[in-house]
Amino acid sequence: MTQIRELSQRLSDQIAAGEVIERPSSVIKELVENAIDAKATEIDITFSEGGLKQIVVSDNGLGIAADDLSLAFKRHATSKITTTDDLFNILTLGFRGEALSSIAAVSKVEIVTNTGETKGIKAKVQEGMIKSQEPAAAKRGTQVIVSDLFFNTPARLKYLKSQKTEIAKMIDVVNQLALSYPDLSFRLFNGSKRLSQTTGDGDLKKNIANIYGRQISQKMIPFSSENMDFEISGYLSLPEMTRSNRNYISILLNGRFIKNYQLSRSIISGYGSKLMVGRFPVVVLNIKMDANLVDVNVHPTKQEVRLSKEAQLKELIEQTFKQTLAKNNLVQDGLDNL
Ligand code: ADP
Ligand code: MG
Repeated sequence: MTQIRELSQRLSDQIAAGEVIERPSSVIKELVENAIDAKATEIDITFSEGGLKQIVVSDNGLGIAADDLSLAFKRHATSKITTTDDLFNILTLGFRGEALSSIAAVSKVEIVTNTGETKGIKAKVQEGMIKSQEPAAAKRGTQVIVSDLFFNTPARLKYLKSQKTEIAKMIDVVNQLALSYPDLSFRLFNGSKRLSQTTGDGDLKKNIANIYGRQISQKMIPFSSENMDFEISGYLSLPEMTRSNRNYISILLNGRFIKNYQLSRSIISGYGSKLMVGRFPVVVLNIKMDANLVDVNVHPTKQEVRLSKEAQLKELIEQTFKQTLAKNNLVQDGLDNL
């Protein structure tokens, strides 16, 4: 008698969903990343009841063609890569083709999309399958409506924190994405209440002010430098403006928000003794590098990456921060002596 059997599509999608969709903020991250990949310039995000009742993400991007719609909800179906070579040269935020299928495995999904035709299409997705599809009035772009998140995975529901904490995490995710893309306009709503908005005019400093407030942005100065392999730029806070945790250090690699302890250590080393113990700066660090030198395919959420030449990058960051702060000190001392 055999004991091994293949899991049903539904069960294997639910297992995969567990890795990608941990909480309401993961839904927002995945849907907004899709909007960015679809070249949207305006992205609206609305949630209710901490994201559990509903999350709606609307974009003015390229839309999904009617014929592609059912594939979009299939796991490992993507328009973003084709070959193994592509996998080592990732230029989009998505590429694993598992966000929509994962979201649909743990919630009720409706999608309205239009690629620029006179009419768009509207579809309901249940357990990963398109259940109904009909023409609908819609502008070019896509709207994904995710309802009753985790309704069929009670263990996941129980693991969630208070609504307040989940809302804070959603705000964090939108802030990270908005900081990464000053050229795009983001709006975040809790029900009808607007929580944040960026203008999308491309000005990073203004963007930082919109997200963190002017008090913080006024204490930040620009930096930029490059070597053979890397180009870095962004804003760093003066040593007098610090925070009690690292959450205000944003590291963006080729437009992707990443978590990298080593790189944030080089930022802190760049401040040297200027930072008090237990205090951390506010930083937006943009790193541009050849996509060939970074492996994004480390973890389903893609926040962890493997870098070639990490040591050189760390050195460049530390030195640039040191020099930028030293130069600013000189200017400051000069002004003080006037
Ligand atoms: P991935 O982003 O890794 O390709 P997803 O499951 O997130 O996988 O999306 C599957 C496909 O659906 C994408 O490759 C894309 O072609 C399409 N898609 C998803 N969201 C959007 C959107 N907002 N606008 C246009 N196309 C989209
Ligand atoms: Mg995606």
